Amino acid sequence: MIVILKPNPDKERVARLIEHFHDMGLNTNYSEGSSTTIIGLLGDTSRIDENDIMVYDLVERVQRVTEPFKGVNRKMHPQDTILEVAGRKIGEGYFNVFAGPCSVESEAQILEVAEAVKKSGASFLRGGAFKPRTSPYSFQGMEAEGLKLLLEAKRQTGLPIVTEIMSEKHLDLFADVDIIQLGARNMQNFMLLKELGRSQKPILLKRGLSATMEEFLMAAEYIFAGGNHNVILCERGIRTFETMIRNNLDISAVPLVKTLSHLPIIIDPSHAAGKRDMVQPLSRAAIASGADGLMIEVHNDPKRALCDGAQSLNIPMFETVMADVKRRVAFEEKQLQTCE
Ligand code: PEP
Ligand code: MN
Repeated sequence: MIVILKPNPDKERVARLIEHFHDMGLNTNYSEGSSTTIIGLLGDTSRIDENDIMVYDLVERVQRVTEPFKGVNRKMHPQDTILEVAGRKIGEGYFNVFAGPCSVESEAQILEVAEAVKKSGASFLRGGAFKPRTSPYSFQGMEAEGLKLLLEAKRQTGLPIVTEIMSEKHLDLFADVDIIQLGARNMQNFMLLKELGRSQKPILLKRGLSATMEEFLMAAEYIFAGGNHNVILCERGIRTFETMIRNNLDISAVPLVKTLSHLPIIIDPSHAAGKRDMVQPLSRAAIASGADGLMIEVHNDPKRALCDGAQSLNIPMFETVMADVKRRVAFEEKQLQTCE
């Protein structure tokens, strides 16, 4: 971190500022040029808030040279993280498809979709039991009952499950869930992030609707800081000025995450587009960009879906998309993880 001082700073105040940095456990490097005076901070600056330094009025500007995230940073951990969940490898060199309905709606629905996505080659079953809905009058999910139905679908098909948590109070209900999803709207729910950091469950962390890459990685850092290193990132589209699609898929998030972090990243083309016809092209883009997987919404009867029907593929459409995914994943020389 570099602290740039205003011109001609008072020597005594500079000395006090340097002493303050030393008290914080940092080493300093003082450099006085003809027009600029700079204090370089050496050591662990991840705990420092730039604004706390700006309170000194001899400071002109504070600039970070290293990212504030340590645990998830590739610089600290050059090898790709490859998680193993229910016998499936998740990370570089592998490819997983997480598929299922937006919400669990009935036993018949989740079982039919689970059987179908397994047959087409998905490696995980997704389905929301606790749903974060914009309107309190919309279907809120089947909650604990929905979790039971997901576990039943897991028992019958052998597909591991991923489902969203909305409150740390529900953590006990998620004991047999294979991957806990932390949704876009809760990406900065810090109490929940801390609680998930204390568990050892794999966490699928979705990017917030308007989260910067740094905020996204700092959310993952919360889980890491608590001791849980089992994190998968998910880009699901961000909000922009465009109104014709639900969100804008930020495809550059994939190479950016791969550069900045060692964590796996998957793409959710369903929430990104909000339209089923765009799921296949965006899935192709995801594979080409280097993503480690896809999360796709599939419903046995999208017209009657209680949530996100317009973006849900029906079962034959998912089969077609999966056939295409298989070819493209093979071209990328990645191993598709399936139920066999
Ligand atoms: C979901 O996966 O159904 C969901 C609510 O996703 P997001 O948090 O990305 O909106
Ligand atoms: Mn959904």
